Parts: sequence; C-alpha cells; structure tokens
Amino acid sequence: MKDPISTRDIGPRAGTPLWLYMLGATAAGAGVLAASLLGLSVDEVRALSLEPLTWVLLCMMVLGELRPVSLPGQPPGNGVPTSLPFAFALVILHGLAVAALLQVAATVVAGFARGHAPHRTAFNAAQYTLALGVADAVLRLTAPGLVQNLWFPSVGELLALILAAAAYFATNRVLVTSAVAMHERVPLRQVMFKGASQQAYVNAVLLSLAPLVVVAANHSVLFVPLFALPLWALYTSALLSVKRDHQANHDELTALANRKLLTLRARQEISHAQQRGGGVGLLLLDLDRFKEVNDTLGHPTGDRLLQTVARRLTHSVRPGDLVARLGGDEFAVLLPQVSDASAAREVASRLRGALAEPVRLDGMDFDLQASIGIALYPGDAPDFALLMQRADVAMYVAKADRTGVESYDPGKDRNSTARLSLYSELRRGLSEGALEMHYQPKVGLSDERVIGLEALARWRHPSRGLLTPDEFMPVVEQSNLSRAFTSQVLDVTLAHAARWHREGQDLPVAVNLSVRELLDPELPGTVAAALREYGLPSRQLVLEVGEHALITDTHAATEAVRVLRGLGVGLSLDDFGTGHFTLAQLAGLPLDEVKIHESFTARLVDRSDSGHTVVRAAIALVKALGMRATAEGVQNAELARAARDTGCHAAQGHHFSPPLSADEVTEWLAAHDGGTAAGTRV
Ligand code: C2E
Ligand code: CA
Ligand code: CA
Repeated sequence: MKDPISTRDIGPRAGTPLWLYMLGATAAGAGVLAASLLGLSVDEVRALSLEPLTWVLLCMMVLGELRPVSLPGQPPGNGVPTSLPFAFALVILHGLAVAALLQVAATVVAGFARGHAPHRTAFNAAQYTLALGVADAVLRLTAPGLVQNLWFPSVGELLALILAAAAYFATNRVLVTSAVAMHERVPLRQVMFKGASQQAYVNAVLLSLAPLVVVAANHSVLFVPLFALPLWALYTSALLSVKRDHQANHDELTALANRKLLTLRARQEISHAQQRGGGVGLLLLDLDRFKEVNDTLGHPTGDRLLQTVARRLTHSVRPGDLVARLGGDEFAVLLPQVSDASAAREVASRLRGALAEPVRLDGMDFDLQASIGIALYPGDAPDFALLMQRADVAMYVAKADRTGVESYDPGKDRNSTARLSLYSELRRGLSEGALEMHYQPKVGLSDERVIGLEALARWRHPSRGLLTPDEFMPVVEQSNLSRAFTSQVLDVTLAHAARWHREGQDLPVAVNLSVRELLDPELPGTVAAALREYGLPSRQLVLEVGEHALITDTHAATEAVRVLRGLGVGLSLDDFGTGHFTLAQLAGLPLDEVKIHESFTARLVDRSDSGHTVVRAAIALVKALGMRATAEGVQNAELARAARDTGCHAAQGHHFSPPLSADEVTEWLAAHDGGTAAGTRV
C-alpha cells in the first residue's frame, strides 16, 4: 500500500492533524529503524555487503517499488508494490534491521525516480519499517529459528508465517488508512474497509511468495530474479484491469468521473450519511454560452476549454469531493460531507470564481461563466435520483433568472413552483416518449391539393392531458432540454414522414425550430443523422424558423440557416409579420417559403384597415424574391379566397383542417383524395 496522498504531492499544512500524524509516523519509523540497526554489528554489515544476494534483492525491491500492483479505485501508479515478497523474505532471512535498511533504500531510490516529494517518501519508508517491525516481532515470538527449517516447515511455523504476514498487512493498512481518513476528513471506519478485501487479496498473493523467495535464495541466488516473471504478470494484468475499470467510470475527454461513477459514489455517500448523520451535497453546473464557443471556434477548441474547466473544478474542491462530467458542458460536484446549504453555496461560489478567471486559448481570452444548482441530502431529497432532479431544477432557475447559483427551493413562489415541476415532468416525459406530433395539412391555393404537412408538438402530460406548445415551449427554450426535445421531435416526425413516403405520399413535412434549437451547433448533424436513419430524401423535410429567431441573433441565425441549407432541406420563415424583420433582411436569406402570420393574414379581409395594402405589398415582394408565400390561420373561405387573390401560394388553417394525429392524417389524406377536401372549396 502506498501513501494515498498522491494525486497532489503537496504536503499537508503544518499543524494540521494530518501533518502531526505524518510527522509522528515518520519519527516512529526512524526510531524503530535506528534501534534495530544498533543490533547489527559492523562485521555483519560487511558480510552482507559482500553477498551477491543482498544486491540482487535490493534490485528486485527497487524494481518492485516502481511497479506496484494497481488496485481498482486508485490512481495508476498507486497500489501494492511488488517489492513486498523480497522485503518479507528479508525479515525471515535476516530480521528487521536488514529488511528495513534495504526497504528504506529501495523506497528512497524509487521515490526519487518517480519524483515524489521528500515528505511522501519519508512517510512511505517509515510506514514499511513499522509494518515490517511488527511482522518481525510476531515471527520472533512464534517461530524462532524458522530459516533453517524452511525447507520442511512444521504446521506451527507455517501458522507463524501467516500470522506475521497478517500483522504486516494490518499495521500497514491502519497506518495508510488513518492518513487517508485525515486527508479526506472522514471517519477511519469508512476508509478502513473500502476495498479491503482486494487489498488483502493482493497482499496475500505477494506475501505468500516470500517463503518461496527464502527457499530459492538459500539454494542459489540465481533463482531470485526468476520471481520477476510472475510478478510482472501480476503487475500487467492488474494494470490492465484497473485501466479498463477506469475507462468505464471516467469521461474520456476530461478524465473526470462519469455519470456512472457519480451515481455509485453518491449512493455510497448517502448511505454513509444515513448511518452517521450529516448531509451530502450535489452541485450541478452548466456552462453559460459554451455552445457559442464550440460553434464559432470549433470542437477542438471547445474540447480544450472543457479540459480547462475540468482542471479548475478539480482544483477548487476538497480531497474526497468528486467532480464528474455528465456530458456536453454539464458537470456535477458531489460533496460527501456538507453541513448546510451555506457551506454548499460557498463551494459553488468558489467554483464560479475559479471559472471566472479568463482562459487563454489560441491567443484569445475567454470568459467562462456557469450556472450552478444545489440540492442537499436529506433536506431536499431522500435519495440520489431525486437529489439529481432537484439540483437540476435549481440549476434551471439559476440559468433562467441569471443568478449564477441557486439552492433548491420548492416554496419560492407558486409560479416558479409550477414552472419547476413542469420542467422536471417534461424532462421525465421526454425520456419516456410522452411527446406526440400532430400534423396540419398545407393546401395549395390554385387547386386545393395537399402540398405538405406541418408537424406540431403535443405533450401527453400524466395528469393534465394533452398540452399544446404554448404550455411547454417556454420551458424547452429556457432550459437544457432543448437538445433532447429537438431530437425527439425529429425522431417522431421523420418516422411518420417515412411511413407516408413509403405509402406513396410525396408530402414534405415541416418541423418548427426555436431560437435555441436553431443556434445549437449540433443541429445540422442531428438533422442529417435523422434523415439517414429514416432513409428520407432531404427535400422531404422543411425546417421552419420564426421571424423572432432571426432577429434575436441575426448573424448567428443567418449562419445556421446557411448550414442547414447545405443539407438540402427546405427552409421556411415562420410568423412573418409579427416581428420587425425588414424586407432587406429577407432578401439576404436562402429561403423557399415565407409563412404569413395569422394576424397579418386576417388583415387581408379587413377593408377598414389600410394595413392590408402593406400585406399585399409584402406578399408581392416575397414572390418577387422567388419565395412562396403561405397564409397561416386561414379559418374560413373568405380568407382563403383573399389569400389566393393576393398571390399566396398555399394556406393552412382550420378552414382546411386543424392539426391531426398521425393516424387521422392517413384517413384525412384518403378522404381528401384527388386533392380536394369536401366542403372546403375556395
Ligand atoms: P406556428 O408554427 O405558427 O403553428 C401554427 C399554430 O397555429 C399551431 O398552434 C396551430 O394549431 C395553430 N392553427 C392552425 N390553424 C389555425 C387557425 O385556423 N386559426 C388559429 N387561430 N390557429 C391555427 P400550436 O400547435 O399550438 O403551435 C403553436 C406554436 O408552437 C407554433 O406556431 C410553433 O411556433 C410552436 N411549435 C409547435 N410545435 C413545435 C415544435 O415541434 N418545435 C418548436 N420549436 N416549436 C413548435
Ligand atoms: Ca410553424
Ligand atoms: Ca406560424
């Protein structure tokens, strides 16, 4: 077992319990070594130094120190050193003084080679000396004269060996886990038994080789180096399995824990807290505007930025806290021991402070900002699943209200409570496939043939029935759910579109995009992948972008529209006439269609409103730009006629059909066969 204070080779602060402990242990080790050396005569030392076996064993021990057997859950390079069989063999052969002397020498050489801090090497050397000392004492008391008999040991002597090995293990374990417990500020009990069986197993394997080393060495020193082979096999296979274990539990890009490990650790910590009392804190952290960086500077830069974030977060928490990356720009920090919300808030503001330092990448400075949501066990949630959900809700509030940090607060005000529960319900709904798509036919005004369908989202809420977008789109747009939402909308819609396509209907299906969805750099990839998955030609899909989306961030939105155009999908400007979109802006966009908002359409038949002249002029311009105009909200024959006469190409509205479920669409299309719905003549 190695010194656990390894990931950061900084010594404990002077005066802390850990510092006192390490100092005390080191002094005790030095004392034991000095005392045992007193029993060694100069002649004995000279004789030993002339024996090749001494040097062979020392070499094996140095190599063994450099190649410890890795253990799961520990950083690579930490573990049980393969020098152990030789050190223990030296105890059997020559007693503590020689064993400790060579072990300390090997530890110092290896510590130097691995660049360990002196305090760490000193503690390691002392830890070995003390553990070997206890083993030596047990052996002397229970089986004096063992070396001579080792070729044919008695049952009693074998038991004495086992007892000494167990004493070595127990001493070493107590010494190391005490340091870990002080370092992580947790009760000794908690670390003492963590991974103890693995530790015991590896120690038993290594210690069991010691008597064989003694027997072999008594025969010929040439046998000793042969032990390198089984030890090497042990070392490499353990390393491999630990690496695999590490990969399964860590994020590849940042090497932080992944969601799986976070879940595991959080559950453990919650059960510890249940036993000893106290709280567990969970912080969820989402970077603000990270997408823009990714979008404008590309993924490699975005990746490096995420690595920087990971480093800063790791360095801002205490040992024992766990930083995890949940995916994208979402991180989590688990605080296994947190007294109250204000302590967790303090950590949160420390994290934000660490991120606020500008990051320099490719000669440019980035300002990073994050929104953090906090939830505590047991105050906010009784288990991990709810804790995650509550922290997520708090993060959502922090983002929406731009406050930076929020603790979970169920009783803030009714409005936000409703909004928050809607958010968690929608998150669950999306994961359970509660999103349905309805379709409204778009009808050509010259001959009343159906020329397309518009997909409109509906959410089947567990208690409130079928909800329309005005009830949930605000939540989608203001939260981190928009990506999941988009991919589900595309998934459901394209599955239906593919079915109609197979049935011989050549109807493009339009999907609406909110600003947030449009500006997501992953959108083009998602769209292309969905089209591929359902085997649909890209012209069968139309994307509708609202006028306000283009105004909010004209530059980025225009860019996004161009990228989507490159995929070959149809593009449509939605809700024309509601914002302040200028006709000049319209001219610069690669659009196929402009949809005239229902409020604008309504003005076509209002004779008292001189505004209808404006609408007419706008429609004329749309046509002049080579785009088609579609009138929305056409509720009656009069509006349909006016739209046709003004030059609109197509229309949508209750006059033709309300939005229909997928099955109703199939029926409606059959009834509408020939292109004209009964009773909807213009
Ligand atoms: P929109 O794109 O302008 O969709 C047209 C809305 O007008 C639909 O409301 C439709 O049901 C309604 N409508 C259809 N015919 C008539 C009519 O004759 N008279 C009147 N007064 N209204 C009519 P819905 O389905 O509630 O959708 C509302 C808005 O929600 C949509 O406006 C769209 O902006 C957004 N939305 C719907 N589905 C999605 C989606 O999947 N993704 C995104 N990002 N937004 C969506
Ligand atoms: Ca639309
Ligand atoms: Ca519209």
